[in-house]
Amino acid sequence: MLSKEEIKAQIIKALSTKAPKPICPICQNDKWKVADGYVVLPVSPNPREIHMGGRIHPLVAVSCSKCGNTHLINLITLGFKPEELPNLKVSEDVEPKQ
Ligand SMILES: [Zn+2]
Repeated sequence: MLSKEEIKAQIIKALSTKAPKPICPICQNDKWKVADGYVVLPVSPNPREIHMGGRIHPLVAVSCSKCGNTHLINLITLGFKPEELPNLKVSEDVEPKQ
């Protein structure tokens, strides 16, 4: 199991291949923070109902370090395979490798 910092490093590496120098559209800052966990949006076939336990969009929140403007980035579109997602589970118990 990977440490929280190792997981963040993988996400930052993947993001940097898609958006090498992202600039915040609100404050023009170029420093971003990756959240410690994920945002999971349920997908529903009905626009007026929430279906729990079905399909989801696996997202990671990336926030501007200056103003807090937050973007949700889809991990699959970022390049992670569905079968890799369990490896991105964040555990507070795992120490970084020495
Ligand atoms: Zn900003």
